Amino acid sequence: MQRLFAMRSMSALLRKPSHYHFSTSFLFDDTQKQFKESVSQFAQESIAPHAAMVDITNHFPKDVNLWKLMGDFNLHGITAPEEYGGLGLGYLYHCIAMEEISRASGSVGLSYGAHSNLCINQLVRHGNPDQKQKYLPKVVYAKTDLAAGSKGITAFIIEKGMPGFSTAQKLDKLGMRGSDTCELVFENCFVPEENILGQEGKGVYVMMSGLDLERLVLAGGPLGLMQACLDVVIPYVRQREQFGRPIGEFQLIQGKLADMYTSLQSSRSFVYSVARDCDNGIIDRKDCAGVILFAAENATQVALQAIQCLGGNGYVNEYPTGRLLRDAKLFEIGAGTSEIRRIIIGRELFKEQ
Ligand SMILES: Cc1cc2nc3c(=O)[nH]c(=O)nc-3n(C[C@H](O)[C@H](O)[C@H](O)COP(=O)(O)OP(=O)(O)OC[C@H]3O[C@@H](n4cnc5c(N)ncnc54)[C@H](O)[C@@H]3O)c2cc1C
Repeated sequence: MQRLFAMRSMSALLRKPSHYHFSTSFLFDDTQKQFKESVSQFAQESIAPHAAMVDITNHFPKDVNLWKLMGDFNLHGITAPEEYGGLGLGYLYHCIAMEEISRASGSVGLSYGAHSNLCINQLVRHGNPDQKQKYLPKVVYAKTDLAAGSKGITAFIIEKGMPGFSTAQKLDKLGMRGSDTCELVFENCFVPEENILGQEGKGVYVMMSGLDLERLVLAGGPLGLMQACLDVVIPYVRQREQFGRPIGEFQLIQGKLADMYTSLQSSRSFVYSVARDCDNGIIDRKDCAGVILFAAENATQVALQAIQCLGGNGYVNEYPTGRLLRDAKLFEIGAGTSEIRRIIIGRELFKEQ
């Protein structure tokens, strides 16, 4: 009873995680820092309060249109040209947005990454002027409820209701709940010429050529989840007392904090360095695979450490640590598994002189 009471009173104190600002001076200039701070504020105010319910109900909230709010903030079109309503910024800014949205909610972040990169950025890279004019402003301002990546772009090119295209049942997932995933079904599907993205019979090129940038942008997701873990853990270890002292005074707990912090900061360093390269036109396949391999595996470990730091409470769903672990694991699987990423990196290194 005594222990349960302690757990309950801590949970009342800590239901709302704090909002930590670690130094990013080694990564960003002043404009980039301001952008990060404003997206962070937006995401903490508009998205974070829904994160637990999105996970529990396995649905986007019905009382607020997060998709449109993000569109109003111009987060969908970060890499889209200004003439189509985008911000005309690059991948570094896109990774910052992905990090801050995922920090607020992993599953909203995943849907956001899929829509803004797999859908919008692929239209930017491969759409002809007519397709861009017709579709980009709609998807940038979220004048549609489409929220999935491959589904989003397929549905635009195939168009809703086109004979031969349908979606199978929504899958029941371990994590990233509320970010709906399903199979796309094509049965003698007819695609009119004006809807072909790239060249006929070369769709796989469109998809595969986007994978490097998809891996980079999605790597912002595990960064946000690691930050979210520290947002929960730091205030917890300051307040939770055992043996008459805050548990954060114990060196074994401090060691975990140090490991979590360095995992996050080293992952950030790698992700944003590669993002800067991509903005300068240097898109290196092994580095794009490398950033998501490194950040994703670190995020799973950081989430496990977060659970451990909270003890019994870490295992209780009233705290977000379990959700953070379930969400983090996806990044070792989606956009090519860790094994495939290692294969890509090894193969590229073997090829190089
Ligand atoms: C939440 C979620 C969202 C997704 N969203 C999308 C999406 O928007 N668009 C999309 O196209 N896909 C999407 N996917 C699919 C995802 O990309 C695949 O699940 C992933 O790439 C792994 O493929 P697979 O499931 O077929 O696993 P498999 O290929 O069957 O792999 C099973 C295991 O075998 C390993 N393996 C496979 N081949 C090798 C090899 N050559 N050497 C060593 N090990 C190997 C894998 O690493 C893995 O551990 C999504 C998946 C999830 C879970």
